[in-house]
Amino acid sequence: MNNDIEQYMIKEKPYYRAVSDEIELYEAAYSVRMPMMLKGPTGCGKTRFVEYMAWKLGKPLITVACNEDMTASDLVGRFLLDASGTRWQDGPLAVAARYGAICYLDEVVEARQDTTVVIHPLTDARRVLPLEKRGELIEAHPDFQMVISYNPGYQSLMKDLKQSTKQRFGALDFNYPSHDIEAEIVAHESGVSADTSDRLVSIAERARNLKGHGLDEGISTRMLIYAGSLMARGVTPVVACRMTLVQPITDDPDMRDALDAAVNTFF
Ligand code: ADP
Repeated sequence: MNNDIEQYMIKEKPYYRAVSDEIELYEAAYSVRMPMMLKGPTGCGKTRFVEYMAWKLGKPLITVACNEDMTASDLVGRFLLDASGTRWQDGPLAVAARYGAICYLDEVVEARQDTTVVIHPLTDARRVLPLEKRGELIEAHPDFQMVISYNPGYQSLMKDLKQSTKQRFGALDFNYPSHDIEAEIVAHESGVSADTSDRLVSIAERARNLKGHGLDEGISTRMLIYAGSLMARGVTPVVACRMTLVQPITDDPDMRDALDAAVNTFF
C-alpha cells in the first residue's frame, strides 16, 4: 500500500459497544459501497463507530472536520508553489478516492452547499472525482466509500443539506445508548465503577428531558466520560459533574440550578 495512505490505517482495534444491528447493516452497505450518513446528536458515538468499522473492514479512514470556511479546494486539492515551481497536492477527498479509503466528512452541514456538491459525482453510479483545475478525472478506487455525519438537531433552513445530497446516502440513526449500555461505555472509557457510571447516566437522562426546554442539546456520552475521567483521578463527584456536565452547556442561571439539582440527586 502507498505510504501516503498507510498512515490512515487504524492499527489498534477501537473499543466500540454495538447498540443494535448497526455493524451488520454498515457491512452490508459497505459491500455495495453505498455512501452512508450517520445521523445523531454530538458525542453519541458516530465517530467511534466509523473508526471501528474502518478497522474491522481493514480500510484506511480519512476524516475531515467540516466548517463553513471550507472550500471545495480544501477537499479536492490545489496547486502549491514551491522552489521548483507549482506542484499539485491532492486534498483528502482526492486521496481517499485515489487510494481506496473511507472518507468521513464530520458535521457536513457546517460546510457551505457549494462545497458539499463536490461529493456528488463520487456518491452516485459514476464514482468519479473531477479535478477541474488539474484537468484530471479520478475514477474512485473500488474500496472507496463516502461517509458523512449529520446532527438533525442543528439544521435550520439556512443550514441543511440539499435533498439532492441527502438522497445519495443510506442513513443510520444514532442516539444516546440505552441506560445499561451507556453505563457500560462510560465505565469502560473513564475507569469509574459500574455504580458511579450508572449514576452519571441517570444525571444525563434527567438533563436530556430538558432539551427543548432551555437546553439546545442534552448531556452526551462524551461529557459523561469526561466527568468519569476526572472522578477516576480523584476529583470530587459534584465538582467533576459541574465542570463537565453543567458549565459547558449552559450559562442560564435557572438551567444551571436545574442541572445542579440533578447532580445532587445522584451524588
Ligand atoms: P460523535 O462522533 O457522535 O460526536 P464520538 O464517536 O466522538 O461522538 O463519541 C464520543 C465518545 O463516546 C467516544 O470517544 C467514545 O469514548 C464514547 N462512545 C459513545 N458511544 C460509544 C459506543 N457505542 N461504543 C464505545 N464508545 C462509545
